[in-house]
Amino acid sequence: MTRISPIVDDQLSCDQAGFRPGRSCCGQVLNLTQFIEDGYENQLKTGAVFVDLTAAYDTVQGYYKQWFLNANPGKTQVCTFHLNNHLANRILRVKWENEELENTKFPVYLGVTLNRTLSFKEHMRKLKEKVASRNNLLRKLANSKWGTDPNTLKTTAVALCFSTAEYCAPVWARSCHASAVDAELNQACRTITGNLKPTPLPAVYRMASIAPPAIRRDNLTKQERDKQLSGSRHPLYGHQQPPQRLKSRKSFATTNGLDGSNPAQNRLEQWEIWDRSTFHPTVPPPSESLPNGTSFKRNEWVALNRAKAKVGRTQDNLHKWGLVPQPTCPYGEPIQTMDHILRECTLGPHCTDQDLLDANQSASQWCQWWHEKI
Ligand SMILES: [Zn+2]
Repeated sequence: MTRISPIVDDQLSCDQAGFRPGRSCCGQVLNLTQFIEDGYENQLKTGAVFVDLTAAYDTVQGYYKQWFLNANPGKTQVCTFHLNNHLANRILRVKWENEELENTKFPVYLGVTLNRTLSFKEHMRKLKEKVASRNNLLRKLANSKWGTDPNTLKTTAVALCFSTAEYCAPVWARSCHASAVDAELNQACRTITGNLKPTPLPAVYRMASIAPPAIRRDNLTKQERDKQLSGSRHPLYGHQQPPQRLKSRKSFATTNGLDGSNPAQNRLEQWEIWDRSTFHPTVPPPSESLPNGTSFKRNEWVALNRAKAKVGRTQDNLHKWGLVPQPTCPYGEPIQTMDHILRECTLGPHCTDQDLLDANQSASQWCQWWHEKI
């Protein structure tokens, strides 16, 4: 890349991002969506023709010939972007080589599904599905003999689920549908920790040691904004923002950068502001490093996290969830809460909050005894 880019650079169309340092899909999509947003502000409609191109030796006229590209009219999409709902069904008539091109409501540009109002609702629907199928893979990995250690599982969740869920996030993160993908990311974190669904989400994120999705997206937007502000190679460098007319629109150009702080530090600060919940001291504070106990076997790690969150399949909870008739421990003992089985239950070993926090020998023994039961 370093060796070829100086040579390749002069030979490429100025619109091309591939093979260019400092340029990315995200910058490319932002360039288009910002142009559309500016149109909204200026009460202009934006018509776009998305030409599907394949590199080819056999070339078409003009521009395409010059850049050795072959257009594929069958896959070409036409769409108009504006906020006038009365005109929602109007189409744009574009002819190419005497053939009228078909309009689409949801053109896909570099993997991002767009729509007339840039609400990204359809994009989020598809993204949620994609992440859901990746969550299935993660779950299989968690239940297999390999990769069951928490560090591997977390790394895989970030690479497999989060990175997919965050592709081009600076483009769509401010949409009101952005959080549609969060349910799947919550699930990915529960797979890492083994926590049950009723566990409060802030606790799950702390135990998975991953900053919550909205914070990660905001962080990615800030990083992309820094790239734009400092890099003359960014397609939006030097962008002139029109005066804001629409209060509900939050275009990329209206966002802020990291202001000199480093991305990880910024994620942590935002996370601490967002999560002011007070949990049992066994739930670790926000941090992007996994807490103690990562050397435990999978089923013990799961029991450990359920004990820390105080949410497990205890008789008390099963009773609350309508699954058993009695909340009491067998043999007429008192109500079987997590604290009961941690401290006073005669059925198994005991362990303190500090033991859980340290993930020491006592915690390990407790987890070995209770793992299949809670
Ligand atoms: Zn008991």
